[in-house]
Amino acid sequence: MKALLDKLYMQNSLEKDGIVYLLKNLDEEHKENLFEYSHKTRLKYYGNKVFMRGLVEFSNICKQDCLYCGIRVSNPGVERYRLMPDEILTCCQEGYQLGYRTFVLQSGEDFWYTEEILTDIIKRIKERFQDTAITLSIGERSEEVYRNLFKAGADRFLLRHETASRELYQKLHPTMDFDNRRDCLKTLKKIGYQVGAGFMVGLPGQRAEDLAEDLIFLKELEPDMIGIGPFIPHNATPLKDAIGGTVEDTLVMLAFTRLLVPDCLLPATTAMGTLNPKGREMALKAGANVAMPNLSPTNVRAKYELYENKICTGDEAAHCRQCIEKRINSVGFQVDMGRGDSFKYQKKCYNNKY
Ligand code: SAH
Repeated sequence: MKALLDKLYMQNSLEKDGIVYLLKNLDEEHKENLFEYSHKTRLKYYGNKVFMRGLVEFSNICKQDCLYCGIRVSNPGVERYRLMPDEILTCCQEGYQLGYRTFVLQSGEDFWYTEEILTDIIKRIKERFQDTAITLSIGERSEEVYRNLFKAGADRFLLRHETASRELYQKLHPTMDFDNRRDCLKTLKKIGYQVGAGFMVGLPGQRAEDLAEDLIFLKELEPDMIGIGPFIPHNATPLKDAIGGTVEDTLVMLAFTRLLVPDCLLPATTAMGTLNPKGREMALKAGANVAMPNLSPTNVRAKYELYENKICTGDEAAHCRQCIEKRINSVGFQVDMGRGDSFKYQKKCYNNKY
């Protein structure tokens, strides 16, 4: 086991069999070893910095019907909302004053926000806050729309692949298509976005082999950002009786990811903080280097309920900012309020310039 971990650490690669073997057999001693390696790798690439992103959850209206998600179209119990462009700008204004230089605009797949409306929002944010980056997390759209949003000024796009198992993906996403999701990621990359993929840990029926596939997919795609969190069952979904993912298993996947894609931006997700009050701190220690505090207006936060018991729904943005900074410092890391572009992207800019 030690030899496999050493290879993973030294070469930042490992074939599927090795990953599966480790996932199935890791004991406490080797887990510690894994976390030590992922921590060292993170320090080598990013030092003790943690990048901050301000998250605006601007609509919980969604046309998709993902079995795990609390805001799926067939959950009638959700009080739906949409933030108007002016309201989104107000959130960014507040975030800018708190020091954020990246805004993550996330929503369900809500086509009320046409290309035109989204373009207008992006342009207004970029005009007003010139030294910021915009990350979109709005689901699947056509290549043309992706292109025009990029032209309007969007810099990054988060679209988790959710699971690399075709069979599991099709079961969980009755209204979506496995190949199309992957094509979207490739298209986004081709257009020039900094791209984020990622997956959930602990989905019903997910095996070690499937998680190994997730890691291999990420290694091949080489995304700039990778979002990984535990699946948390929601009471008003068909998966309400599922067991869900654990913090421990997710930490292992974060550590593997840091080792396989060493220069990636890897958030300590809110889902981790939901399962364990120290979940995000533990994620940072296992190799995560991004935090995404909430900038959404407090009156809509609880309504953006992908899973239950979501944390911080009553907190003002300023409170979240301070709370996260304290947590980050408590485990020996420092907040970085810069745009925090990915290394790959910085290299690309450098190569284009010189
Ligand atoms: N509509 C956008 C944003 C999705 S919400 C898109 O398609 O990309 C962001 C992420 O939350 C999802 O990609 C999914 O991985 C995660 N998520 C949804 N429901 C969840 C649950 N019950 N537990 C944990 N994570 C969940």
